[in-house]
Amino acid sequence: MTIKAYGAQASDQPLKPMRITRRAPGAHDVRIEIAYCGVCHSDLHQVRSEWEGTLYPCVPGHEIVGRVSAVGAQVSRFAAGDLVGVGCIVDSCRHCEDCGAGLENYCDHMVGTYNGPTPDAPGHTLGGYSQQIVVHERYVLRIRHPEAQLAAVAPLLCAGITTYSPLRHWKAGPGHRVGVVGIGGLGHMGIKLAHAMGAHVVAFTTSESKREAAKALGANEVVVSHHADEMAAQDKRFDFILNTVAVPHNLDAFFTLLKRDGTMVLVGAPPTPHPSPQVFNLLMKRRSLAGSIIGGIPETQEMLDFCAARGIVADIELIRADEINEAYERMLKGDVKYRFVIENASLTQPK
Ligand code: NAP
Ligand code: ZN
Ligand code: ZN
Repeated sequence: MTIKAYGAQASDQPLKPMRITRRAPGAHDVRIEIAYCGVCHSDLHQVRSEWEGTLYPCVPGHEIVGRVSAVGAQVSRFAAGDLVGVGCIVDSCRHCEDCGAGLENYCDHMVGTYNGPTPDAPGHTLGGYSQQIVVHERYVLRIRHPEAQLAAVAPLLCAGITTYSPLRHWKAGPGHRVGVVGIGGLGHMGIKLAHAMGAHVVAFTTSESKREAAKALGANEVVVSHHADEMAAQDKRFDFILNTVAVPHNLDAFFTLLKRDGTMVLVGAPPTPHPSPQVFNLLMKRRSLAGSIIGGIPETQEMLDFCAARGIVADIELIRADEINEAYERMLKGDVKYRFVIENASLTQPK
């Protein structure tokens, strides 16, 4: 089936309307009419080939929510009309140790929702800036939030799970002091989730304008990171720091805020390396530096249900598909509170 989408034909081209095809649902497939798709900073890195290896045409989008319109003959868990989501993963090998553990995000053959290998035309996956998507039921998530919140649920499918998974793995909870660095799409979800888990949350931002806003998200304290006195007051106090910044920066400025045995996890994925942290800052307090990528399918469902039970959604600014290029420029300036979400109906509705 041919459908409308928004994507780029080359790394130096803006996104434009295009037509793409979707396969007819196979026995285990679910076809979803996409209602909304969140705009992740990874979309921007990928569509501009900042990580290299982007295949064109590139249709980004991996924060997908919508309604099931058809299911294959063998699909048992979903039916037409269900509210569902698709995140960053649409396939994996299904038999390795990681897939067996429900950690498809660490499978060597994980297929991303866009730019991943597929037998479908054009030979790589195309994402959620489009009217529809067809996905194997194993990678489809159930949404239990009220439909009225659907647009604000979309960012949970990447920003939500990418912050939830490391917070859970490193056991954020009561008595823990958690820092969140960079208050963008990921960071604002990190604050909400760490707060909901019962941790004491300190937000680190480069933007003075987010000082009060970050408190409203659930931060107990907010530090503007270029104020040396505010940074000094946080020295050696953290169990855990979640670093979401999308550009290379001096990690030591935050690393030294960890207390003994503390861990800083990098989830931000800048295209060029950070300067290496000073070895003595690792040695002196037995500190750890770690990374984490999205989360597996079972944990993504757990996160969605955790958020539905507590009424947690993203803070969003709804845009039309034809506003995406402007939205990318604003995202680069940190000028969004805190996630753009495309209303996919705008793909077919004239202004
Ligand atoms: P975003 O909305 O653009 O947020 C990034 C935030 O970083 C900005 O809002 C800003 O917050 C801060 N920042 C920007 N420039 C900075 C600078 N020069 N110095 C210090 N801080 C700066 O991006 P996002 O969607 O949250 O994604 C963040 C990164 O995570 C991207 O690299 C993305 O590709 C990556 N990512 C990784 C995963 C994963 O699985 N590991 C998943 C999704 C995304 P303040 O204004 O508060 O300083
Ligand atoms: Zn993402
Ligand atoms: Zn696997």
